[in-house]
Parts: sequence; structure tokens; C-alpha cells
Amino acid sequence: MVLPMTTTSPNAASRTRHVDIAIIGSGFSGLGAAIKLKKLGSYSFVVLERGADVGGTWRDNTYPGAACDVPSQLYSFSFARNPEWSRSFSQQPEIQKYIRSVAEKSDVLDHHVFGCDVNSAQWDTAAQQWHLDTTHGRFTARFVVSGVGALCEPALPNIAGINDFEGELFHSARWDHTADLTGKRVAIIGTGASAIQIVPAIADKAGTLDVYQRTAPWILPRLDRPYTRFERFAFKHIPGVQRLARTAIYASRETQVIGLAKAPKLMLGLQALAKGMIRAQIRNPELRKKVTPDFRIGCKRMLISNAYYPALDRANVDLITDGIAEVRGKSIVTADGTEREIDALIVATGFHVTDSPMFAGITGKDGRTLAEVFNDTGMQGYKGTTVAGFPNMFFLVGPNTGLGHTSIVLMIESQLNYVIDALKKIKSNNIATFDVLPEVQNEYNAILQKQLSDTVWMTGGCASWYLDKHGNNTTLWPGFTFTFRRMLKQFDTQAYAITVMSDHTDIAAPQTAAPAARANTTQGTQA
Ligand code: NAP
Repeated sequence: MVLPMTTTSPNAASRTRHVDIAIIGSGFSGLGAAIKLKKLGSYSFVVLERGADVGGTWRDNTYPGAACDVPSQLYSFSFARNPEWSRSFSQQPEIQKYIRSVAEKSDVLDHHVFGCDVNSAQWDTAAQQWHLDTTHGRFTARFVVSGVGALCEPALPNIAGINDFEGELFHSARWDHTADLTGKRVAIIGTGASAIQIVPAIADKAGTLDVYQRTAPWILPRLDRPYTRFERFAFKHIPGVQRLARTAIYASRETQVIGLAKAPKLMLGLQALAKGMIRAQIRNPELRKKVTPDFRIGCKRMLISNAYYPALDRANVDLITDGIAEVRGKSIVTADGTEREIDALIVATGFHVTDSPMFAGITGKDGRTLAEVFNDTGMQGYKGTTVAGFPNMFFLVGPNTGLGHTSIVLMIESQLNYVIDALKKIKSNNIATFDVLPEVQNEYNAILQKQLSDTVWMTGGCASWYLDKHGNNTTLWPGFTFTFRRMLKQFDTQAYAITVMSDHTDIAAPQTAAPAARANTTQGTQA
């Protein structure tokens, strides 16, 4: 078994280590990049991961009830399908176990530096490489692959007095497992994808549970069930069965794009289904009214749960829709002046997606940070994978790569195809740097925003984290995943400003032999 690497050398922090490629983060995307690079074999690489394990969001989100709302069959790499899924929609521990096992089997763990926070990444035009300052010292790299994902920086609500709350207080993505909620007066802020899983999971444990809702979400049935022994046997032993199951689920999910992105009126069928669920699961007419959204289904992420509405209907659970005015030492006060005492406060208020603090740490060729650039233009990129002014950098799960209907792993794999094709072309054409042409990026985004303008995310009458402060949707892909896949099949060199090695004799990278770089950056133990 390969154990995770730790940097134990006292000199590690003071020396600069060089690699061809630095991958930041080891969730689905960063890990996928590491696996593909290992297979490619032509570049030295290191994975800088701030956590103690692989898994990213699936390592961090350990709240009670954490589970995936995308079917298990699609929630795995196509090159590492998992016949062992125990149910049709997996729970967090099983997904984390899967990611870990893929990392072990692919033999990439000894490329990882765990507990390594990347403080900054700065492009050095003269040396044509990136400088990375990390909690494990400095690295230089010809190329950077950002695999930090969109859902990694918890967003805390800006509510008066919240920092002075005297009871237990934590974000859903940083669950405090030492906090015992048994019999306590608990409040949760938010009714998004995380909250609707947490509420039923803790409702019978808490003495009372106050759910603070700002906007009601649309909720659909969760068609979850354990796989039978026969199904699991077939997935494992009968050739083609799992592939067939995956393809069928993939195709049925893709049809949702028609309603979400092409003809939002078609979403009314799903909306009727969701309304029926409210009627069937909630008895109290007042509560029914409170949970019924006032926007078109799909505008915000559609949620799935069979347990949320019944949990709200419990005697010890209250749904509070008056806005929060302030948090006091041991209570929450709403706009109507009501004060409700609590012992514990859970904030399930989502993530910094279009305003990630990580953007401030990345400085491109003009000396501007990604935060500054995105502040002006919004979160724009080219094909979701590169950003003008940030040479030799790939962004996995970059701008407009999110999905409202199916597995993000499909998008990540398409991006990995693009990255690997780029790296092959870079090698064979002796390319030193690439930087997407601003006019190409602008044109790409103009077309994208035009396509997005008719989607339910823009026309559905809601406010959501899909939209940035300019009112643009810079998070979602407005089409089929196979269209994205086709678009990223090949790295289109003509879209980029390219310099070749012979133009520059002073670049650091060619002087560094891959095996030596590897020896400098990995100290993993094999057991
Ligand atoms: P979210 O969907 O962004 O929901 C945040 C919730 O907090 C919303 O109800 C929001 O209300 C509320 N909120 C935010 N700030 C607030 C404030 N200041 N005062 C009161 N309420 C506030 O976050 P999430 O539930 O953590 O989910 C984030 C994303 O993670 C999801 O969209 C999904 O992509 C992913 N996720 C996926 C799964 C899965 O099964 N695959 C599970 C969990 C999460 P408004 O609606 O009014 O803004």
C-alpha cells in the first residue's frame, strides 16, 4: 500500500523544488489529472493538497446525511468504474472510499504533498514558469493545473452578531463531530442541497430544530434504493452490464438539458411533480405555502429528498421564513422582533463560487490577480479550462463548467482530455508557453452568454449563486455534456499565443530532468 507523503525534511520549507507540472488540489479533478499525467509519463508532477487525504469536497463534507444527488453509476471516472456501489445514489463515506481506492490503485499517492496549502502562484514571464509559495516551501513549475473546484471555500453569512454567538457554531462543510446535538435547541441557516440532507438526519436527535429559510427550494423525489445482490454481481461479473446501466442513466439525465437550457417551459412538468410532493408529504396548509417556491423549477439547483418535508412536518421542527435580523449570545432574532433561544447554530449557507478567496492568490503575466481580472470581467475563461493572461495554467472545473443535471465528473474528464492533448502538443512542438488570445476568449464568452440568456437559470425568476455580480451566469455549461466533450477533444493551438522553446534559451524547465525533479518533490513511503 502506498502511504500518503509527508514532507519531513527540515529543509523542505527553505528550498525551491522544480517540477514540470504542479497540480493544486486532489479532489475528483486534481486526482484525475494526476492519474492521466502518470499514464502519459512525459512530465514530472506534484499534487499540492491542503487536506490530509484525497477527496476534496467529499473528504470535507462529512455532515450527517451527506450524500450525492447524482446517480452512483455516473459519479465515478469512466476509466475506473465502481461495481461495488451499494445503492443507486451513494452516500459520502462510500464516495470518499471510492476516491481513495482509485488514488491507491493508480499509484499516484506518492506524488502528493498533503497538508500543503498553496498561498500564492505567480507567473514569471522571464523564466516562463510559475512560482508557488506553499506551507511546504516554494515550488516552480512550467505548468499549473488548478483542481481546487468550485465548492471548497465555505461562505459564512454576514449576519450581525454571528461571531459573538456563544454556543456551538459551524459550517455544514466543516461539521464539528465533537458537538453533541442530542436534546439541544438547534438552528440551521439555509435550505440548499446541504441543509435539506442535514435537517432529516438530525431532526430526531435535536430537542428542537429551527430551520431558517430565505428562499424555498424545489424538491423532487429521491429515487434511491440499495442495489440487489444480483445487480451487484452483474455489474462486477457480466461484461457490459455496468456500462449499459451507466449509458442508460447518462442518456436519461442528458434529456433534462432540453428543459433547463433550451425550452424552460418544459420544466413545468417537473414543477407539477414537485408540487405534488409538497401536497403528499406536508399536512399543514401554512407550511405547504411556506415551502412552495415562487420561481421556475431548475432556476436554482433542483434538490432531491424524500425525507426533508416529513422532517419539517415534525412537532419539534419549525420552518422560519422571517429574515434574520441578528444573532445574539444564545439566540436568533428575526426581522419581526421574535427572539428564539438556541444552543447550537449550523450554517449551511454554501460556498464562495464566483468570488473564491483563492483567486486573489494567483497572479498572471500582467501582474494582475485572478480576483482583479474576474472582478472586472466576471469569471470568464476559454472552454472552461484556460484564462487569458494566465499562461501555462489549466483550470479544472473552471468558468461555465458546472451542471444542473448530471455528473461533474463527465466535465472533468473532458477537460482532462484537453489538458493531456495540450501537453502532448507542447512536447511534440517544443512549446514553451501558451496563453489564450483575449479576442478568442471574448468571442467564446459572448456566444456562451447568448446561449445562456434563454435558459431557465436566467429566465426562471430566481437569484442564485450561478450568477455573478454582473448578472452573468459564469458557472454553468448551457448544453449537453457530449457537446462539451466534443469541443474539448483536441487542444486548439490556434486559439493561443504560443512561444516555442528555441525562442527562449533562458527558461528553467528544460534544465530540469524529470526523475531528479521527482526525487526532490516526493518522499513517500511504500509499505
Ligand atoms: P447552497 O445551495 O448555496 O445553499 C445555501 C443556502 O443558504 C440557501 O438556502 C441560501 O438561501 C442560504 N443562505 C445563504 N446565505 C444566507 C444568509 N446570509 N442568510 C440566510 N440564508 C442564507 O449551498 P449548499 O446547500 O451547501 O450547496 C452548495 C452546492 O453544493 C449545491 O448547489 C450543490 O452543487 C453542491 N452539493 C451537492 C450535493 C450533492 O448531493 N451532490 C450535496 C450538497 C451540496 P438563498 O437560496 O436565498 O440564497
